[in-house]
Amino acid sequence: MRYISTRGGVAPLTFSEAVMMGLGTDGGLLLPEQIPSIDDATLNSWSRLSFPDLAKEVVGLFVGDSDIPAADLDQLIEQSFASFNHSDVTPVVKVGDRYILELFHGPTLAFKDVALQFLGNIFEYILAKKGGELNIVGATSGDTGSAAIYGVRGRKGIQIFILHPSGRVSPIQEKQMTTVLDDNVHNIAIEGTFDDGQAIVKQLFNDLAFKKKFHLGAVNSINWARILAQIVYYFYAWGRVKKDGKKKVTFSVPTGNFGDIFAGYMAHRMGLPVEQLILATNRNDILSRFFNSGTYRAGSVTPTISPSMDIQVSSNFERYLYYLLDEDSEKLKFLMGELNSDDGFTVSDDLLARSKPLIWARAVSEDETEDTIKRVFKEDGYILDPHSAVGVCAAEGRSGVVCLATAHPAKFGQAVTKAIGRAPDVPKALQGVMDRPARCMVLPASLDSVQGYIQKVLRAE
Ligand SMILES: *Cc1c(COP(=O)(O)O)cnc(C)c1O
Repeated sequence: MRYISTRGGVAPLTFSEAVMMGLGTDGGLLLPEQIPSIDDATLNSWSRLSFPDLAKEVVGLFVGDSDIPAADLDQLIEQSFASFNHSDVTPVVKVGDRYILELFHGPTLAFKDVALQFLGNIFEYILAKKGGELNIVGATSGDTGSAAIYGVRGRKGIQIFILHPSGRVSPIQEKQMTTVLDDNVHNIAIEGTFDDGQAIVKQLFNDLAFKKKFHLGAVNSINWARILAQIVYYFYAWGRVKKDGKKKVTFSVPTGNFGDIFAGYMAHRMGLPVEQLILATNRNDILSRFFNSGTYRAGSVTPTISPSMDIQVSSNFERYLYYLLDEDSEKLKFLMGELNSDDGFTVSDDLLARSKPLIWARAVSEDETEDTIKRVFKEDGYILDPHSAVGVCAAEGRSGVVCLATAHPAKFGQAVTKAIGRAPDVPKALQGVMDRPARCMVLPASLDSVQGYIQKVLRAE
């Protein structure tokens, strides 16, 4: 399988090259040249597979033996999901008249583990083969840094630097990151805000000489390998629910950067019988505004109790738009250029109509989110985290929907306690994290200090 860019400016790449490139060198996002299609017999045979075995089938279609030998790939996949603490990896449970696809049984209790455990293994494997090194730099507001750190901790050829705003992430989030003591993990608490951290990371990547010299890379949600790993659980959930007599399935997806729901879209294009993809956003509703009006315009970010979905623009949306535009890179580039204007862009009614009925979008308010946590606990005895509750709320009034649960409620204990009047049980992975020894570098929020620190660490390697 070869990979190309949505903006048409990258010569076809192998899977390994696409993973190492991350963002296309032309500023576009990488996609497979063709979408593999699955016939009914294959689909049915897949419905009996365990999660890792299914992952081998799905991922194998997108990699190719000449790039990574199948036996190696299978081993990487086994390794990636062995770190999950549930034997089903992503179990499906019936809660009331809906299904909950629990994606939070990985080491940091959030769905990003599914993709980042796989990405860490792939990075390490490719680097070992090519003899290179990779130094990952990223900024986090608290929720996603730990999944990235756990994805690459202890991996050969990789160092990771994660900036978080000092004193502005929850104590448990901070500890989840800073108690990882592997030599290749470097937590940096900057004396500033998340936006300061993000600006510093952006500046570091814009310093092309520095970026090249120190082999800087990112693990953000635009990496194709992350989408790929997420396609697997749509097939997996369908196989579980099909046993209950449902053939076409509707999925409800709590959405921020459009990575998770895009994986569902890919599964649909491959032939998975999907009735509808419900795109659920919180108050930061740029995507639900697009799917309801055709206008895509960046807003300002409002903090919510589902912070991992607090986004201004959605980085993976470009991939979907590319397909909506019939893979026309020129049209796509024009629209992405318009996005920089205050008005964003508006697509024609005809074009918008083509997104329907597959994608249906709804924004969920803070009150609705809290009420949903409360109601599902009262009626069904099941505790949702606020992100998952956004998806469940958007699916309300329909039965048999598979709602993706993207974080364990204990990760967002405060909001959950406020909704149901008691704290959710803390799973083993989080117990004791507050008492473990931690390591973290506190630095002023300036490019110079962060750049200097990274340089010092990498020179000492
Ligand atoms: C990242 C995240 C999301 C949003 O997923 P996208 O792929 O960015 O749309 C939802 N819930 C949780 C808990 C997350 O960490």
